[in-house]
Amino acid sequence: MSDAALFGWSSTAEYCTYLDENDKKLGAFLSRTGAAEFQSALERSRSEASGQNPLRGMPFAVKDNIAVKGLPLSCGSKMLDTLSSPYSATAVEKLQQAGAVVVGKTNLDEFGMGSSCDNSALGTTNNPWDVARVAGGSSGGSAAVVAAGMVPFALGSDTGGSIRQPAAFCGTYGLKPSYGVVSRFGLVAYASSLETIGIISLDTQLLRIVFDTMRGQDPKDQSSRPFSPKASEKRQGEKPRIGVIADIEGLAPAMESAYRERLDLIRKKGYEIVEIELPMLEYVVPAYYTIASAEASANLARYAGIRYGHRTDWADEHGELTEKSRDEGFGDEVKLRILLGTYVLRSGFKDQYYLRAQKIRTLLRNEILSAFQKVDQILSPVFPTTAFPHGDAGLDQFQQKLADKFTATANLAAIPALAFPAGQSEGLPFGLQLLGPEFSEHKLIDTASAFTELWEPKTAPGFREWR
Ligand code: GLN
Repeated sequence: MSDAALFGWSSTAEYCTYLDENDKKLGAFLSRTGAAEFQSALERSRSEASGQNPLRGMPFAVKDNIAVKGLPLSCGSKMLDTLSSPYSATAVEKLQQAGAVVVGKTNLDEFGMGSSCDNSALGTTNNPWDVARVAGGSSGGSAAVVAAGMVPFALGSDTGGSIRQPAAFCGTYGLKPSYGVVSRFGLVAYASSLETIGIISLDTQLLRIVFDTMRGQDPKDQSSRPFSPKASEKRQGEKPRIGVIADIEGLAPAMESAYRERLDLIRKKGYEIVEIELPMLEYVVPAYYTIASAEASANLARYAGIRYGHRTDWADEHGELTEKSRDEGFGDEVKLRILLGTYVLRSGFKDQYYLRAQKIRTLLRNEILSAFQKVDQILSPVFPTTAFPHGDAGLDQFQQKLADKFTATANLAAIPALAFPAGQSEGLPFGLQLLGPEFSEHKLIDTASAFTELWEPKTAPGFREWR
């Protein structure tokens, strides 16, 4: 097969130049596979992967907290900015075996902590719809490259919304699978009980293929589980019953009216919409930040300036070496969360914070599971606003955290969630989210595909179609 088979590009060199040129305005890639390296990976894929495999020769991008052998694994942090990964994540390996080819690593909020990519220590990422605005976070680089048409799909990670929120800001689909269904081996840990690797794409068929390729129990990840969906009680083509939160609060006014308009359209199409009560939703943000910070403080303790990562130039003794290395290597938001995490785990405080948050997590999960006795899927907004501007004109760190309410719910409950494009509000894309019971990923994709047909899908300026 000649180079021309690369989705209409006359050569890999031409494609790589296009990526580099386009990325000048987006700043979405932290590193790129060189043209020669990309070409040989492509040739390997063509000789090794089956001609039947739809992913054969397909380029994709990977968030820079997911390992790809031989490429950087910076996590958007000065702590790891000289690291080259000696191995690949299981999810990446599976995609490569199916013939997909990595084109580069994308920007993120440092270690996945944030909702804008502005917490990255290594660069700023802009939204392809309006470069004065953030692409979202923490998988903002992955959402931006998909929305700009630079790759047909990209991998991200989602601990509290980091795939779905940037997907909503950039007008793409973003799938956070059920906990444990995709191996976390090779994902740099932030909050291990909450996070999953997932997918950003503009094509629901491709989303399904990539998900089915990546998933599976992995001996290298003890928390991974087999994908075991229940046989559907619904007949083929039967519409799912959709739950919506009765008193939805905290949406920006334009978002609230856009959301209500979409609900009307869905109702008019004959879907049964049932109002549900989720009183525990109010406690999602404090519970999420308590648990996520506690886990982060334990996971990030490995960056001590000793085995790998940044090491300070000079220290007189061991304690000082670790202290200075961490002080220089970590950004403010990461330091804040480590401090918060150690605080909530301190003896004497643990019952009051960490254990209480775990109880809230159980109650929330029970509440959601009982909602799934009444409805098949739950529909909600992804985020209370559209993409906000960079800097002081945007949302501050505290407002960003409060806005994680809708997304972090799925991580606490370990259930799958899918953000899908819902058109535009005031000229910017916005997303809606479907939550489903464990292992309902395929059904969520089916419903979201049907919903997006109800409104005009529009792509970002400069978008290049992948077929
Ligand atoms: N905004 C959330 C946070 O900062 C989401 C992070 C994520 O999913 N990685 O923790």
